[in-house]
Amino acid sequence: MQSSGNSHIGNWFGMMKQAKELQGSGNECLYFVADLHSFTSKQDPELFAANQAAGVLDWLALVIDPQKSIFYRQSDIRAHTELLWYFSCLTPMGLMERAHSFKDKTAKGLEANVGLFTYPILMATDILLYDAEVVPVGKDQKQHVEMARDIAQKFNHHFGETFVLPEAQIKEAVQTIPGLDGAKMSKSYGNTIEVFADEKTMKKKIMSIKTESVDLGDPIDPDTCNVMALHRLFENPNLKNLEDQYRNGDIGFGDSKKQLFELVWDYFADARAKRAELASKPDLVEDILRSGAQKANAIAEAKLELVRSRFGLSGKHLV
Ligand code: AMP
Repeated sequence: MQSSGNSHIGNWFGMMKQAKELQGSGNECLYFVADLHSFTSKQDPELFAANQAAGVLDWLALVIDPQKSIFYRQSDIRAHTELLWYFSCLTPMGLMERAHSFKDKTAKGLEANVGLFTYPILMATDILLYDAEVVPVGKDQKQHVEMARDIAQKFNHHFGETFVLPEAQIKEAVQTIPGLDGAKMSKSYGNTIEVFADEKTMKKKIMSIKTESVDLGDPIDPDTCNVMALHRLFENPNLKNLEDQYRNGDIGFGDSKKQLFELVWDYFADARAKRAELASKPDLVEDILRSGAQKANAIAEAKLELVRSRFGLSGKHLV
């Protein structure tokens, strides 16, 4: 996940929750903060450092058990940027030109740089360097995982078996989490609810969720309401009753939003406490990252050596 702002509930339900479940079921997991990816949108050193640190804390608070997963920052592993070049020379332009995410972002007027265009190739390095078999992602990333698979296939075909072909793991029920305006929740669209927003900000955001115009006392269809969609996601124990209230015109959007805020705030209470504790222990966080980077680097460097040799590069560097 890119470190380009604080984690939002689309990230949590779309991917992080699955990542946590995979970690708990005896798999060998590698998770990282994709800080290099964030340069595709902004190149601001202070903002970069702040977002990188926030990404690390969010992941440690919400997902990572350092005893079970290898956790690191992408930028600590140099193999990514080198492999990006080898893959770039093997990837047809047409493959990148088909990327929905690139097309959507440019269609919405976002300024595109070459990094944004080729970021699925950097993402392919994230996956393929470690022989990942399964990649938990939201629906928007399905195509990028398929591209990583295409690149692996092309490489293996050209040079012989080198990379494992990865599969995207997408949970049907939470493929695309809607944002405040009902469109896909995304940092790029400014419609997010951050998991670790302070109480006032979270309340304000939830109160600003877009709803249809209905007179007080009139029935509301619970199946078309953005607020209700979030009640469902957070498994409101009072759901049935709330649906009846909607249908009978016994509740307005304001009250429904207030209840939603309480639900969301409580849902993340433990993670919030854990994050605050970790934020007060920078040495502990640094130790976790160092240990993760060492383990990840050993795997990545071994794979990179193999790739270099496939291209005919000698293992010996003169400098
Ligand atoms: P990003 O924030 O774009 O780097 O995405 C990080 C991960 O969160 C990816 O696996 C995305 O598929 C997932 N994700 C982001 N936004 C959503 C959303 N609105 N619904 C479901 N998954 C999402």
